[in-house]
Amino acid sequence: IITVKNLHKSYNDYHLFKGISLDVKKGEVVAIIGPSGSGKSTFLRCINGLENFQKGEVIVDGIRLNSNNRLNPSKEDMEVIRKIRLKVGMVFQQFNLFPHMTVLENIIEAPVKVLSINRSIAIENALTLLRRINLENKADSFPEDLSGGEQQRVAIVRSLAMKPEVMLFDEPTSSLDPEMVGEVLYVIKDLVGRGMTTLIVTHLMQFAHEIADRVVVLDKGDIIETGLPDEIFINPKNERTKSFLSRSL
Ligand code: ATP
Ligand code: MG
Repeated sequence: IITVKNLHKSYNDYHLFKGISLDVKKGEVVAIIGPSGSGKSTFLRCINGLENFQKGEVIVDGIRLNSNNRLNPSKEDMEVIRKIRLKVGMVFQQFNLFPHMTVLENIIEAPVKVLSINRSIAIENALTLLRRINLENKADSFPEDLSGGEQQRVAIVRSLAMKPEVMLFDEPTSSLDPEMVGEVLYVIKDLVGRGMTTLIVTHLMQFAHEIADRVVVLDKGDIIETGLPDEIFINPKNERTKSFLSRSL
C-alpha cells in the first residue's frame, strides 16, 4: 500500500537520503529504528507530504507523490498532497490537540470540515472512538485537563476519525511520563490488532520487537538493515545495527 522508490532528500546542502526504497503491504506493521539524526522523522514526513524531496517517488494506495517542490507547489501538487494526507494519519511525539476545543470538538473537527460528514454522525463516530480508548467521560473536557497519556490517546483517535488507510507514529510515547506509556502502547496494539497498516518510529525496542512484522534500521539516512524482528533484535547482521542496539538496550 506504500511504495517509496529511490527517495533523495536534502536539507540545504546536507544530502540525507541518497535513494532509499521501501514497500509496505496492506496490514503490515513496520517499526523504524535508528540513532538520533538518522532520518526517521524525515522519512515519515516525506510519506505524508509534510516534507518535500528532490528525487524519487512516494506512492500511497495509488496516489503518487513526486519530487514536488513544496516551497512552490503547483495546483496539481497541492491536490496530490491533499489526497495523500487523507490516506495517511500521523501522530507525533507532541499531542498537538487544539487547546481551545474540547476532546469531542477536536475529534469531529476534520471529519466535519474536511470530509463534510454530517455533524451528528461525526459525533456518534467520535463517541465510539472515545469508548474504544475508555475516555467517553472526557468528551467535554479540554486538553489541558487531561493527562499526557490521555491526550495522546485522543490524538490517536482524532487521526482515526479521518478513516486513514495508513497510520504513521513518530515516537508517540517519548514525551510521556513513564507510567502513561503503557496505556498509549495498548491503544496502538489494539489498532494493529484491527489490521491497520502502521509505520512506527520508536526507541522502545521491546515494543518494536513485539508489535512489528518487519523492522527497518536507519543510519545516516540509509536503510542499513531490514528484517523480521527476531532477525534484527536477536541476530542483527549489520555491524552498525549491532552497535546501535547494544547502545539502546
Ligand atoms: P531523532 O531520533 O532525534 O528524532 P531522526 O532520526 O528523526 O532523529 P530527523 O529528524 O529525520 O532524524 O533528521 C535527520 C537529519 O536531518 C538530521 O541530521 C537533522 O539535523 C536534519 N534535519 C532535520 N530537519 C531539518 C530541517 N528542517 N532543516 C535542516 N536539517 C534538518
Ligand atoms: Mg525524529
